[in-house]
Amino acid sequence: MIKKLLKRVFGKAARIRVEGKCHIIPFEVHGVSRSGISPAARKVTDGLQAAGYAAFVVGGAVRDLLLDRHPKDFDIATNATPEDVRRVFRRSRIIGRRFRLVHVLFGEETVETSTFRRMIEAEDAQTDEHGRLLRDNEFGDQEQDAARRDFTANALFYDPSTQEIYDYHNGYADIRANTLRMIGDPAVRYREDPVRMLRAVRLSAKLGMKLDAATAAPIFGMKELLSNVPQARLLDEMLKLLLSGHALECIKKLRAMDLHHGLLPMLDVILEQPLGEKFVMLALENTDQRIREDKSVSPAFLFAALLWHEVLASWKTRQEAGERPVAALHEAMDEVLARQQAQLAIPHRYDAFMKEIWLLQPRFEQRGGQRPVRLLSQPRFRAAYDFLLLRCESGEVDAQLGLWWDEFQDASDERRAEMLQPDEAPKKRRRRKKPAGAKAAAQADLPIE
Ligand code: ATP
Ligand code: MG
Repeated sequence: MIKKLLKRVFGKAARIRVEGKCHIIPFEVHGVSRSGISPAARKVTDGLQAAGYAAFVVGGAVRDLLLDRHPKDFDIATNATPEDVRRVFRRSRIIGRRFRLVHVLFGEETVETSTFRRMIEAEDAQTDEHGRLLRDNEFGDQEQDAARRDFTANALFYDPSTQEIYDYHNGYADIRANTLRMIGDPAVRYREDPVRMLRAVRLSAKLGMKLDAATAAPIFGMKELLSNVPQARLLDEMLKLLLSGHALECIKKLRAMDLHHGLLPMLDVILEQPLGEKFVMLALENTDQRIREDKSVSPAFLFAALLWHEVLASWKTRQEAGERPVAALHEAMDEVLARQQAQLAIPHRYDAFMKEIWLLQPRFEQRGGQRPVRLLSQPRFRAAYDFLLLRCESGEVDAQLGLWWDEFQDASDERRAEMLQPDEAPKKRRRRKKPAGAKAAAQADLPIE
């Protein structure tokens, strides 16, 4: 039927050519037009091809276009070496130590260009004692480059000048069947790189593709291997997952596959605190929503949310032990951050932002005198207020508090004066000698007790 229709429209049968192991699928069959490729990526493939090299758009971008999604970026694969690519494009630089890539720059856009590479055969490969590949940086040809990729859907090459797709692993049919399938023997591929288990979960959640049964099956028995992956790489993958726009779905899937337990300290934090679970789920949902609306999201805000109930618990214990509220909050923040950094390598650059958001929280409770107006002028007010709304929605604090701040922000001066509550907080007393904790209290704008 379709063939007949195509024949009528295009005048000849649209045919898939087979060259060796490769199926070459014409535009008439797949329908992805070169107009979907970014101008910068086009310039890179055109430039390389004009210089006599093979060059394709590859990986996630081809997959996303076939799924009618907007690709995040366009990666190029070529048989030109990094030095060759540098010679073709003056505005480019070689990056990466493990495997050298070239960033080709066009105005705002950077196009990552990599030379075809191959998987190193088992006997030559350097692995750790669990079979994890430590090195895979040998140049190869296009077929080998397809074979070293993770999923069939991620191993398609698109040539913008002919609008043909090169498919070595039946990825086109898998995409059309909405199936995410590992190339090769899934167990072997997870052993080489356990992060592929997390990628399977993330990509299937993000793309709404089902995991092929044979791809999913070994995961349960192999999940322990994740504990050998360097923390920095796990954090990278966790960030991709949390900022994928489908964090909630990803976390649920990880949990369903029992991939969270004991392997990723952050997921334990998220899921094993009953009090915090609702709050964290709301924070993830909120982040997903913002990403889908193309609004900015800050990883620091998300980390602040993930860790909030730990901070709360420690703050409470300390106050019960007689510490003053502000000093106790400072201690609690430092304790939680130190613990997480040891486990998770959350970058220090997020600390200041997280602390500011947390420190502003008790100040929302104070609704008398000049304090609310001073709080409004804080540079982090907006983020802290968003954080407060999540706390309200999760039931941790009274919803009235959020509503009060919602109104107060935009109210006229008269209305604000009406809204202010009697200032019952003890006034700061002048003392000749500054007591301990005065600095912290002043910073947090809290009365000294
Ligand atoms: P996203 O849309 O999230 O960027 P992606 O598939 O493009 O998804 P990237 O991390 O950008 O993911 O990787 C680009 C390509 O590199 C993938 O499409 C895949 O072909 C290959 N790849 C990435 N990570 C691995 C891995 N761990 N093992 C094998 N191939 C990988
Ligand atoms: Mg990508």
